[in-house]
This record gives sequence, structure tokens and C-alpha cells, in this order.
Amino acid sequence: MPLQDDLKQQLTNAIKARKTLEDAYESQFKILAQFVSRLSLVCKGVDIELDNRLAKLRNVLAKGTDLEKLIPFINDTSQSLQLLDAKQQRDIKQVQHELNQAGKLLQQQKGLPDQLRRDLRALLSKVAEPPATVQAFLPHLSSLTNLYQTALQAQQQLANSSNDDVRYGHICRQISVELTNLLSELAFADKSAAQIAIIRKSLLDSLPIEALLDACLQTITIIVASINKERLSAEHFLLQLNDALSSVQQAVSLSLKSSDKLQQKLSVLNQQIEQQIIQLSSSTKSATSLEQLKELVSQRLDSISSALNSKEQLETEQRHLMLQTLTGMELRLNELESEALTFRSKLAEQNFRSLQDSLTEIPNRAAFDERLELEIKRWERYQTPLCIALADVDLFKKINDNFGHSAGDKTLKVIAKALQQGLRETDFIARYGGEEFVILFPETPLDELTAPLNKLREKIKNIVFTFKGQKVPITISFGASQLTAKDSSRQVFDRADEALYEAKKAGRDRVVLKR
Ligand code: GH3
Ligand code: MG
Ligand code: MG
Repeated sequence: MPLQDDLKQQLTNAIKARKTLEDAYESQFKILAQFVSRLSLVCKGVDIELDNRLAKLRNVLAKGTDLEKLIPFINDTSQSLQLLDAKQQRDIKQVQHELNQAGKLLQQQKGLPDQLRRDLRALLSKVAEPPATVQAFLPHLSSLTNLYQTALQAQQQLANSSNDDVRYGHICRQISVELTNLLSELAFADKSAAQIAIIRKSLLDSLPIEALLDACLQTITIIVASINKERLSAEHFLLQLNDALSSVQQAVSLSLKSSDKLQQKLSVLNQQIEQQIIQLSSSTKSATSLEQLKELVSQRLDSISSALNSKEQLETEQRHLMLQTLTGMELRLNELESEALTFRSKLAEQNFRSLQDSLTEIPNRAAFDERLELEIKRWERYQTPLCIALADVDLFKKINDNFGHSAGDKTLKVIAKALQQGLRETDFIARYGGEEFVILFPETPLDELTAPLNKLREKIKNIVFTFKGQKVPITISFGASQLTAKDSSRQVFDRADEALYEAKKAGRDRVVLKR
């Protein structure tokens, strides 16, 4: 049956052909499914909704070859893709804007190296070109990050090298110049002149602050050594000099301290900024979605920009502080200079007004007036308490009357010496007149005066005076008061005098304090 055979053959051929076709279809579908699946994996992370749809699509693709079933998934997914495309366009614009902003912010920073400025300009022009994808910005972002890092390093170097060192150098030079001026005002002979010349020569080098203060101290020592003992106005000047030097020293150490603190704050800020940049750089590398990348860029740039702002504020504060210190020091040093001038003219006069009492060899009333004026100035500046005490020998007239005037003179000498020896180095005693003495107690409040005054009182009482073989006890009375803000020097003196009068009235040999 050739026909039958023929049909059978045709059928076999058709089955074979169909099988081949089905096989081809299946393998083509598999390739396509694999491709779609891979492609969908690449898109993963862009959008959660899209991820879900693609996962389902991959699932269906893995199960079988029924194209019909795929159609709804494909439709849904392409809708998501359309929405995403629009969103991506917006993202591109936003990232472009933020990169541009960050770059401009960096451009505004002071003290950037020239090369960095050029690189930054080039980068900004690239950022301005419209790119196809957000990812296209990634190289720009990483360039910008690098530029930030370089800028930060440059600024840090600048801050470290210039701020403190320049300022410190400036302060040292200032002191050095002022001391040189002062030295040239001091005209001494022989040994002292040679010593001064050595100090002046040493000032030609730039000395550190310790050496400068040392030179100041040496100068003081020389002055002290060179000045005649009774020239009390020299002492007056030295007190001024000492004041000026100690306030310079205080100002220097204070400003160095606070500048240290600011420097610490600055370096913490620098670290924070650097940290932000490093984080930005590492997280941009690991960012998996555009959304994340966008968030990240705007967050980090925000905090970097606020840190840069605080940094600038701190630097302004530091500059301000330095200016303040220098102005203050300049003022003090100017005062010192004019004081030095006065001193020189006094030295040149050679005929000092005598400031020593010739009988007792302690300072006289003129010396007291001069010293009181100085102590009041110091009180105004430092506001440390200042007290005045008046001392009057009890019933002294009797000594003169009973044992003669020269016995009285000797007695006054002994009393003056005893009083002076019983005081601290910083206290000041003068013979105010007759058998009256006046004592200045700087940096002493009135409550702390009872003990030392009673000690002095006891001291005088315990001296054994012998006149014409007769032991005569001598006592002394004290009245004291403290300087207040409302007082003139006259008023505080008068109060002490009233207190002394009360001591006399109450029976003598006692101490009375008056507020
Ligand atoms: P009171 O306890 O009230 O102070 O009694 P007083 O005798 O000390 O007081 P008054 O003021 O009446 O006398 C002070 C006397 O001091 C008068 C004077 O003879 C004596 N005097 C003052 N200056 C000197 C001096 O330089 N040498 C001597 N030897 N006596 C002096
Ligand atoms: Mg008297
Ligand atoms: Mg008296």
C-alpha cells in the first residue's frame, strides 16, 4: 500500500518536523527567559515595586514556556518601567543640582590651592552638562569628594602652620621690640651698661617667650642693682615695670591657652568633616539604589556644609582673640614706655626730691603720697583689697618731757625699725610726721588686718627701753580702714584716722578697724 506508506511517511516527517520546531522553540524560549531573568537581576535595587514584579516574572519564566501566561506580567512591568523612567529624569536633575551646590560651597572656602580651584572649575563645568543617567554622576561625585579631601588638608595645613606660630612670633617680636626700646632708655654706667648691651644684643635674635621673659627679669635685676637705695621713685617705677611685665605674661599665657582650646575644637571639626567625606565616599561606592544615593549625597553635603560653617566661625573667633590680646599688650607696653621715659628724666635730674625720712631712714610722707597714688591705680586695675593703717605712739610727749628730745629721737628710730621689720615685703611703711606712721597693706582685706596689727602692737610693747637706768614701757595705737569703690584716697585716710582716735579714746595700746 504505497499510498498508506506514503501517508505514514508524511506523518512521521511531520511529527519529526514538529518535534524539531518544538525543540527549537523551547531552547529559544530558554535563552530568552535566561536573558530576561539576568536583565531583571541587573535592574534589582532600583525600585522595590519593580523588584517584586521582576521576581514574579523570573518565577513564571522558570516554570514553563507558556507565553500566554507571561503577557500580564510583562504589561505590569512595563508600566512600572515607564514611571521609573520619569523618576530617573527628576533624580538626574536633583543630583546635578546638589553636586553643583557642593562644588560652589567648596569654591567659597578661603585658602584653597590654585590647582584645586582649577580642578574644581573643570569639574563644575562637567557637572553642568546633561548626562543620561544618575550613575553618570558617580565619577563626578567621587572627584568632588577628592577635592573636598584635598581642600580640607590644605586648610588644615594652613591653620596649623599660620595661626599659632604667626601669632606667637608676633607676640615675641612685640615684646622684643618693646624691651629693646626700654633698654635704650636706661642709661647706666660700667658693669650694668655692659650687661644691658649683652641683653640688647641677644634681642637681635628672635627669642622664644621664656627667653624674653628672662631678659625682662634680668633687666629688672640690673635696674635694681644700679639704683641708689634712697631713690624710692625707682622702686615706684619698678613696680610699674613689674606690673606691666606680669600683665604681658598673663596675656600671653591666657591667649595661648584659649587659642589651644580653639585649636582643639577646630581639629575635632576637621576630623568630623573628614569623616563625613570618607563616609560619603565609601557609601557612594556601596550604594545600590538611586534613591539611596540621592539621600546620601544630600544628607552628607548638608552636614559637611554646616561643619564648614562652624569651622569658619571658630577661625573668626580665634582671629578676634588674637587681636584683642595684642591690643591689650600694646597698651600696657606703651604705658611702660612712657613710664620709662619719665624714669629716665628723673634719673637725669640727679637731684631727686628726698623720699626718705632722715631720722628714721624709712620712707617719708612724700614717698607715701607717691606710693599711695600707685597702689590706688593698681587697686583700680586689679580690684584687690587695699588697707591703710595709721600708728601713733602713745603718750610720746612724756618721753620727751621726762628724758629729753634726743632720747625721744632714738626711741622713734627703734620703733620705726621694729615696725618695718615686722611687715611683709609687699607692705609699705612711712613716717607720716612726728610720732605717727602710716602703713599700706596691698592685697589685704580689713578682716585680715587685726592679727598683723596686734602683732606689731605687741612687738613694740615688748621692746625694753631704758632711759637713765629706768625701764620705760612704750605702747602704740593703730587705726585702720579699707579702700572702697566710693573712696578718694583722702576719705580712706580720714577713716583710718578716726579709728586711731577711737583707739586713743578707748585707752590706747589697741587696734581699731573702721569699715
Ligand atoms: P597720744 O597718746 O594721744 O598720741 O599722746 P602723745 O603725747 O603721743 O600725743 P601728742 O600729739 O600730744 O604729742 C606728740 C609728741 O611727739 C609731741 C612731740 O614732742 C613729739 N614729737 C613729734 N615729733 C618728734 C620728733 O621728731 N622727735 C621727738 N623727740 N619728739 C617728737
Ligand atoms: Mg600724734
Ligand atoms: Mg602720740
